[in-house]
Amino acid sequence: MDVFIEPIGKLINEFSKLPGVGKKTAQRYAYKIIGMTDAEAKAFADSIVNCKSKVRYCKVCGNFTENDVCDICKKRENSTICVVKEPKDVIAMEKLHEYKGVYHVLHGVISPMDGVGPNDIRIKELLSRVNDGEVKEVIMATNPDVEGEATAMYIAKLLKPLGINVTRLAHGIPIGSELEYTDEVTLSRALLERKQI
Ligand SMILES: [Zn+2]
Repeated sequence: MDVFIEPIGKLINEFSKLPGVGKKTAQRYAYKIIGMTDAEAKAFADSIVNCKSKVRYCKVCGNFTENDVCDICKKRENSTICVVKEPKDVIAMEKLHEYKGVYHVLHGVISPMDGVGPNDIRIKELLSRVNDGEVKEVIMATNPDVEGEATAMYIAKLLKPLGINVTRLAHGIPIGSELEYTDEVTLSRALLERKQI
């Protein structure tokens, strides 16, 4: 028999679905919720539902947005596209306040081991953006790990015949690491010193 009464047990179970949250932490979160006022607990629950109903992917770049097209796509010059793996990488780049172009979120990288092929990520969409004609440079900013490198090379091969300048963030980002966890000075330099591929 479960030691928790049903509603608490259920809440613990939900929290333990979150990344990095074990049973003990989930239990602490659940107790914290029970200790909240009704209004606080409702605001917490509402923000989850609200997020799910309002947040969607930008039709152009694939980043999170509340509208059909995100503010970055609407407002920024679109001759440079920075290609990243996930929406959180856009945040890492934006924190630099240096990049003025737009993004393309692949929502994954090519990884034969995990059964992810080129058609499973947003490469077709990138090609159609590039084919629209205004793009001059594509910066490959996938993580410097095996899959990230392979994906960058694969895309570079497709883009180069179209006369696009394809660049890759310079090294300095430790191999095998993630953009998200790279310090801003390193990432900023990697962007500045990007190399042609
Ligand atoms: Zn967008």
